[in-house]
Amino acid sequence: MGRLSTMRSLVMKFGGNALGTVNALSQLLGIVTRETQRWDRVVVVVSALDGVTDRLLEAAQLAQVDNLRGYRRIAANLRSRHFALVDELPLDPPARTALAADIDQLLSQMLDACRAIAKNMSDELLASASDEVVAVGEQLSARIIAALLRQQGLRGAAVDSRELIITDAVHGNANPDFAQTAQRMQERLLPMLQRDIVPVVTGYIGATSDGETTTLGRGGTDYTASVISALLPADALWIWTNVAGMMSADPRELQDARVIARLSYDEAADLAYFGARLLHARMIAPLAERQVPLRIKSIFAPDAAGSLVAGPPKTAEEQLKAVTSVLGLSLRRRMSGSLAGVNRLVGNTLFKTLGMRSEVMIASQSSGGSFLCLVIPTSIGIDGVDRLQRALQAKMGEYPEKMPWQIETVSLVTAIGSRLDSAPQLVGQVLGALAGIEILALSLGASHCSVSVVVRQADARQAVSKIHALVLKSGSNSG
Ligand code: ASP
Ligand code: MG
Repeated sequence: MGRLSTMRSLVMKFGGNALGTVNALSQLLGIVTRETQRWDRVVVVVSALDGVTDRLLEAAQLAQVDNLRGYRRIAANLRSRHFALVDELPLDPPARTALAADIDQLLSQMLDACRAIAKNMSDELLASASDEVVAVGEQLSARIIAALLRQQGLRGAAVDSRELIITDAVHGNANPDFAQTAQRMQERLLPMLQRDIVPVVTGYIGATSDGETTTLGRGGTDYTASVISALLPADALWIWTNVAGMMSADPRELQDARVIARLSYDEAADLAYFGARLLHARMIAPLAERQVPLRIKSIFAPDAAGSLVAGPPKTAEEQLKAVTSVLGLSLRRRMSGSLAGVNRLVGNTLFKTLGMRSEVMIASQSSGGSFLCLVIPTSIGIDGVDRLQRALQAKMGEYPEKMPWQIETVSLVTAIGSRLDSAPQLVGQVLGALAGIEILALSLGASHCSVSVVVRQADARQAVSKIHALVLKSGSNSG
């Protein structure tokens, strides 16, 4: 097998927003067909169809309160949605029938897991049953896409990633064990590739070494694709989405946001971490370690370059590239004193509200002990801040005399750029641009690619647009 090392392999991940419609799937088909002709090996990793994971999480929550009608209704909706899609796809009758049976079987597994949840199990069992419910989304999409590829004459085969991605038992936000996963890939994925099969791997899902289902955190399909790319190792990873690439700002917020042509791994990691929801925050590290270049592309513009994430270019560049904004919570009170008690209370509430998934990305506390600010990752879902705020308020209501804290939502606004450590003038420009906006806290990213400020939520828009003006200027200077 001496030739293996010279084989060029490509991993392609298709996100939910690139999968929901017949139109999107026909783009996918064109892309996979073309790339299988250009590369020796192609691995496809897929998310659930757009919005499906949200519905499944909702079903698991309804099951917890024993709302049988609620989770059954969701299963019925998911059934009609997947059936409707399959009906429109160019498939032979036997392929269509087989897929219909698959969909029904997977949804009946989902209902079994919901029923198990409804039986008031221990927290541990509950978390693993919820992951089983949620895992159905990617299994549905992988089977549909594999069938579509086969119809096109490609040797597509759905692969359940629970056979490949072995993780710890942190349900809902599990971490892959690279050694065990590499072993599994050797045993299960390589033989398929050697037979020219195009594996269609379920993203997001893993399993503990005992076979319990786990998931890798919201947006985890990126992470699955990254782990597979790093371990293969692949010559490239392409992430297909419905936007043109990584953007200099959230295009829904700023119309002049534009595609970032090139980012270093550190910049991409900071961008993902500080709120660009496009990439899973932990996906960059494995790629950086193996120097696997990552491209982010739109399925609707397959020939456009998109964004390239790779090692830094030879000539050092000092440039602001993007600005992000995420929500957080601040707790403030006028008097001075230690924050130890509050830290504990917040920590407990955080854990109880958000479970294992809780992970504070920035905590800042003023010297007088009168200000505490938390920012929690977007991977907990958009309603996370809301839930935490309600829980904290309830908790503090229990001890009003001890905890006269005011809770308010704040925004963490982050400027991302190359070599901010060696370009103090860039940091100075960012802070200068924010003149007139009250900065509640400030922090420099450990990777030297980011500087973050905490501002009142009401000031966030303005802060973002002022920093973005610098980004546009910075890009045109060096470009
Ligand atoms: N389907 C999962 C989610 O919605 C994973 C992913 O899309 O990457 O979070
Ligand atoms: Mg995503």
